[in-house]
Amino acid sequence: MVTNESNKLKYYTFENFSPDKLNHGIFTRHGGISPDSFSSLNVGESAGDTRENVLENRKRIFKTFDRPLSSIYDVWQIHSDEIVYTNNPRPSGAKHIKADAILTDSKKVSLFMQFADCVPILVYDPHKILIGIIHAGWQGTITRIVQKTIQFMQENFQCKPEDIIAGIGPSIGPDHYEVGKNVIIEIEDKLSELTAEVLSNINGKFYFDLWKANRLLLEKSGVVKIETAEICTACNIQDWYSYRCEGQKSGRFGVFFGLK
Ligand SMILES: [Zn+2]
Repeated sequence: MVTNESNKLKYYTFENFSPDKLNHGIFTRHGGISPDSFSSLNVGESAGDTRENVLENRKRIFKTFDRPLSSIYDVWQIHSDEIVYTNNPRPSGAKHIKADAILTDSKKVSLFMQFADCVPILVYDPHKILIGIIHAGWQGTITRIVQKTIQFMQENFQCKPEDIIAGIGPSIGPDHYEVGKNVIIEIEDKLSELTAEVLSNINGKFYFDLWKANRLLLEKSGVVKIETAEICTACNIQDWYSYRCEGQKSGRFGVFFGLK
């Protein structure tokens, strides 16, 4: 990934996504106005930060790309395998749809999601001019939301997997992601063919590699152009929010994706 800075906001971009065609950024926690544990570019309200702070922080992110906040399309992220396509922004005040993958082919729409350890996955088909953001924590990963999103793109937009470019963003790394018995059982059940590759036993503790799991799932769907950030949010809480490290008072960092 490449680091960028604009008005004290520091964000990362994938090298494989053409800046001539796309506006995108995985925003660190720097450059916002939120205090304390939310310091400073928190974009989520669920942990108790004020709406005013969150709105100002979101505005700053959108300003980076000269986009109005009214162009936003965001959803209520619920760790599901629900996928939504939109060709319009979410009208101000309209209820959020519950989903964990959002897609658009409209330049009017700015896709936006929030993260703290879960994996942000960006997908782009340069032939069909279609973009998407996927939110995949352990639940989204085992329900194979990335594969379902690629399938959705094939069925509804005739995308070819080999054309699709994917980026796997900063999120909790395998070094920090110890999982307990219920998660292990779910991985063995739902990702049985990948379990040996994505679950490691180190001195009796089990670690789930979300980066590898989502990369392997994308590859199984036929996607070949995949860039992985390999940045662990829990190793780098000076730059990112980490629910695992910071707990319930953890902020959320923003992921922006729009067509130019
Ligand atoms: Zn780590």
